[in-house]
Amino acid sequence: MRRFFILANNLANNVPEIVGPDARHIAQVLRMQPGELIELFDGSGWVYEARLEDVHPQRVRVSVTRRYQSPSESPLKLTVACGYLKEKKMDLLARSLTELGVHHWWPFFGMRSVPSPEPKRLAARVARWQKISLEAVKQCERGRPMTIEIHQNLAAVLAAEASSEVKLLFWERGDSDQRFSQGQRSAAASALLLLGPEGGFAPREIAAAHSAGFDSVSLGPRILRAETAVQCACALVQHRYGDMGKSP
Ligand code: SAM
Repeated sequence: MRRFFILANNLANNVPEIVGPDARHIAQVLRMQPGELIELFDGSGWVYEARLEDVHPQRVRVSVTRRYQSPSESPLKLTVACGYLKEKKMDLLARSLTELGVHHWWPFFGMRSVPSPEPKRLAARVARWQKISLEAVKQCERGRPMTIEIHQNLAAVLAAEASSEVKLLFWERGDSDQRFSQGQRSAAASALLLLGPEGGFAPREIAAAHSAGFDSVSLGPRILRAETAVQCACALVQHRYGDMGKSP
């Protein structure tokens, strides 16, 4: 079934309407007809099955026939705190981390982070990633986008850490946590992952993460690019504690 985003307050109307480019797409590109079913999501985690009532390139009227919680949200509340990377890499992560089921994305300025945009520019970047995450939700059939929050440094991440059940520091020079590398799948309600920027973590940051109770985890003997490491870590953690590899 085709999926479209609709604002929650529009859904609350008696006859919800899809407007803008999606309405044009339904009417003129897909040439859908009244009576056909589509799926709507409002970013809250709910998904709505809806029937087309009136199809017009400026607005498409629908009636909601059923609503259900998205079955694609991972039971693992996954937060990823990674060093702020160069711009294109951050765009890539906004999309791929959404696809990987990440709930919260916390980019932080590490001691060895290269880019450090001014606050106004940073707000525009976050808005852009939020938009990319919403587009990814449509494509990957999730019910909600990631929340995205910038942290000024690793100390701010550690201070904001709200008692995650699993706390892992991905570090290329560390002894890997045995439970993680050899363990079987197990359920966990929440996990927080720390990954460094292109320049890696500074020794002081590693020490601070260890004192805050993070276990070091290796991704093998090769040094991965920062963006590869983030995606790889999320996939492993979703497989170990979340829903990757499970039947839909
Ligand atoms: N500058 C570092 C160096 O040359 O040793 C490499 C940093 S790496 C490009 C960026 C981040 O990816 C690291 O801080 C770490 O979080 C993660 N990473 C890369 N390779 C890894 C590995 N083999 N095991 C665990 N983490 C890794």
